[in-house]
Amino acid sequence: MECIKVKDLLKRYGNTVVLNGISFEVKCGEKWALLGPNGAGKSTTLKILAGLIKPDKGEVSIKGHDPTSLDAKRLIGYLPEDADPFPALTVEDNLKFMMVLRGIKNEDRAEKLLELLELDKYRKYKAVELSRGNKQKLAIAMAVLHSPEILLLDEPLNYLDIPSQDLVIELFRSFRDSTFVVSTHIMSVADKLTHKVMVISNGSIKWMGTFEELKSMG
Ligand code: ADP
Ligand code: ADP
Repeated sequence: MECIKVKDLLKRYGNTVVLNGISFEVKCGEKWALLGPNGAGKSTTLKILAGLIKPDKGEVSIKGHDPTSLDAKRLIGYLPEDADPFPALTVEDNLKFMMVLRGIKNEDRAEKLLELLELDKYRKYKAVELSRGNKQKLAIAMAVLHSPEILLLDEPLNYLDIPSQDLVIELFRSFRDSTFVVSTHIMSVADKLTHKVMVISNGSIKWMGTFEELKSMG
């Protein structure tokens, strides 16, 4: 079954076309990287999938739902690039805010994420007091708090040192059945988190396939 369907996206900012004829389908449970250089259109594509911005033309379906609908938002966990949790709220209050937003009453999941990501010792810190890496980990915890079926992750390993990357990779690997679209400009990051890759450049998908195929092309 298709979890994500995208057809003929066109997106302009002013007179500049940033997405031009993007089409793809992601089956439920598939894990895709959106690999491409800075400015290729990765973040814009993810924002459209997450229902944050609308394309000028084209169609997007999230399990049959419009991406701006509440039905789609319930299915999706979105990690923005340079994610910035509420600076004046503590780590645990940022998570509590997400619990309210997501209608989650049980605190076990939030606790578990604090432990898994080794954020428990910072629970009383305001987000503004965290290092950039710990801020990124908090944003990841906030994005996956409701155990989303569909994860849209924009440069998820940014700012993380190697031990933190390992924690985060392990967390994402626990989402075995979920569908992933992960944007990155780093091939090794894509390879660690996903099985398949779309290469995007200048607002168009240039290539789609497996990592084995991509590597064998040299
Ligand atoms: P990537 O994530 O691959 O680096 P983006 O989707 O962020 O690429 O950006 C694609 C292009 O759109 C870039 O040229 C960027 O400068 C431009 N762009 C993105 N957001 C905006 C915006 N809000 N206003 C104007 N131009 C934008
Ligand atoms: P990094 O991720 O670079 O290790 P941390 O956020 O863990 O950065 O902070 C580094 C050190 O500074 C830690 O020992 C942490 O306890 C301390 N620290 C950071 N922010 C605060 C704060 N607001 N109050 C007290 N100590 C802090």
